Amino acid sequence: MPGWCRFLVVLSACTLPAAGGRAEPPTSPRVSAVIETTLATQADRIRQLAFDGSMETWFATAGLPTATDHFTLVFDKPVALREVRVVTGGADGAPPLEAGVLEGSVDGKTFSELSRFRDGAATAHTDGQQIVAVRIRPIGNSAHPLAIREFIVDSEPRVAAFQYPVEFTVDVSDAPDMLDWANKVARLCERMYPLINEELASEGYLPPRQIRLTLKNDYRGVAATSGGKITGSVKFFKNHPDDVGAMVHETVHVVQHYRHRGNPGWLVEGIADYIRFFKFEPGNLGAINADPHYNGSYRTSAAFLAFVADKYDKDLVRKLNRLMRAGDYQDATFQDLTGKTLPELDAEWRQSLPK
Ligand SMILES: [Zn+2]
Repeated sequence: MPGWCRFLVVLSACTLPAAGGRAEPPTSPRVSAVIETTLATQADRIRQLAFDGSMETWFATAGLPTATDHFTLVFDKPVALREVRVVTGGADGAPPLEAGVLEGSVDGKTFSELSRFRDGAATAHTDGQQIVAVRIRPIGNSAHPLAIREFIVDSEPRVAAFQYPVEFTVDVSDAPDMLDWANKVARLCERMYPLINEELASEGYLPPRQIRLTLKNDYRGVAATSGGKITGSVKFFKNHPDDVGAMVHETVHVVQHYRHRGNPGWLVEGIADYIRFFKFEPGNLGAINADPHYNGSYRTSAAFLAFVADKYDKDLVRKLNRLMRAGDYQDATFQDLTGKTLPELDAEWRQSLPK
């Protein structure tokens, strides 16, 4: 394996070429949401837990909220809102919001009052009004951290709750001028988290919820992932700010979460680039290796996986991932799934490539 690319059980380091262009996130039948807030997160009580469809989990603030703070759920597009209910206070007894207002917005800029909090909860009936954002605003200074148990949104179309709650934090102490870029990428990778997790779903698996994205001056590759930590090169991303797909690739490694040494590096990297180039930014694959083989890693192996998935089994990558997570992958797995050996599939794929 070349010196610039190392894959270990919990560490993969990648040198990724820049991709051209930029992709829009794939469309979903439901409307997605993002959270915007002035409030910092307390430990692992991450923001998305306030809208994850569960009353068992909640968002909590690190500090004490004031009247200038807000916690806002922004929809990707306006929805006909019938009712929104917000419950505050933690399941561990963290106190509810004493005084606050629930507001809505038709344009995402100006907000008007929908309801007031009473006994820590607020409900607003909005009669199908087109609303694009709802937010909580404390009234006055709070004596305790804010805990938001759940937003319950009844609308048409429905707004998708965060099925795989995640929060990226960024560390740009090596390059403070990269803060906006890093935050943009962090929000993008959070947005891609459901897609990545759907593509790599396996029973009982819960992906990491907190991911740290650090840009380093002395990092010589493009980016690397170790556990829930992604490190990127300041120099590379200053020169290639559009190469956000490289960070999506690293986020795939976080989700893969492989703990077994039997997984071949070409397949680990091939799956990461498969998600990147065939799900996140389709059409941006660009050139693959000359005289390619299935085990060429990165986008070459990604192209091979896409061919086999298309011809034999649309769930190929999900099935491979499930076995790799369990430590049950062997090269014979391909034969189990397709009836063909890896060399046979390789020959078929190579035959299909333009001459
Ligand atoms: Zn990689």
